[in-house]
Amino acid sequence: MRKKIVAGNWKMNMELSEGMNFADSINRYLMNKPHNGVTVMLCPPFVHLVGISEILKSGNISVGAQNCSSETSGAFTGEVSAAMIKSAGAEYVIIGHSERRTLFNEDNSLLNKKILLALNSGLKVIFCCGEIFKERVEDAHFEVVKKQIEKGLFNLAIDQINNVVIAYEPVWAVGTGSTATPEQTQEMHAFIRKLIIDKYGFEAGDNLSILYGGSCTPSNAGEIFSEPDVDGGLIGGASLKMEDFIGIIESI
Ligand code: PEP
Repeated sequence: MRKKIVAGNWKMNMELSEGMNFADSINRYLMNKPHNGVTVMLCPPFVHLVGISEILKSGNISVGAQNCSSETSGAFTGEVSAAMIKSAGAEYVIIGHSERRTLFNEDNSLLNKKILLALNSGLKVIFCCGEIFKERVEDAHFEVVKKQIEKGLFNLAIDQINNVVIAYEPVWAVGTGSTATPEQTQEMHAFIRKLIIDKYGFEAGDNLSILYGGSCTPSNAGEIFSEPDVDGGLIGGASLKMEDFIGIIESI
């Protein structure tokens, strides 16, 4: 059975006290309200990982980081390694977010290096893929996503792929207020699942959680999440407001 996941990507938002209060409140809320086996996750900035992991220890919310270094350790000023993230209490790490790809020039081979390191450090990976608007208009979106997945994931061993979640995030929908339609989402998720089945076999593909990301709100999430190959969402802006994030969790 594949997991349903709703993960909040806070990006570079929330100072420590705000983040801690948010984590504490949502933790209390969800403790008193079972959420149908859905894995809820918060992905705060690195510096909040320890504090938030500590708060969430007594509950059922998972913690993820938003990025990790492609190096193991050493003279890489300002970098944060996968092992450090794990030791700070996180279980997941987001790799390949479109903002990392476009603003920080992270390419497929660097992302693959990060993914292998993160998995070898005992983290689970949320690997993001998705096309830009021009690629969708030119009908190149399947080709683009296929290449991102092949270059990012296809040298993983079968036991490693089982620790990967894929987030399909069309770049034109991330932070823009434009959302992919449920049909566009389902079509791409089914395509991604087939890629994994063809490479790793039916069980691995069937068990893979594929999340949608891109301007999800409480009013559009339910329809998108009801598609058969959509296993939840990676939520940016709406994960910063408790009411919206809870609304999305409850719409799954
Ligand atoms: C994201 O950052 O992963 C994301 C999906 O952002 P938003 O929900 O704001 O579009």
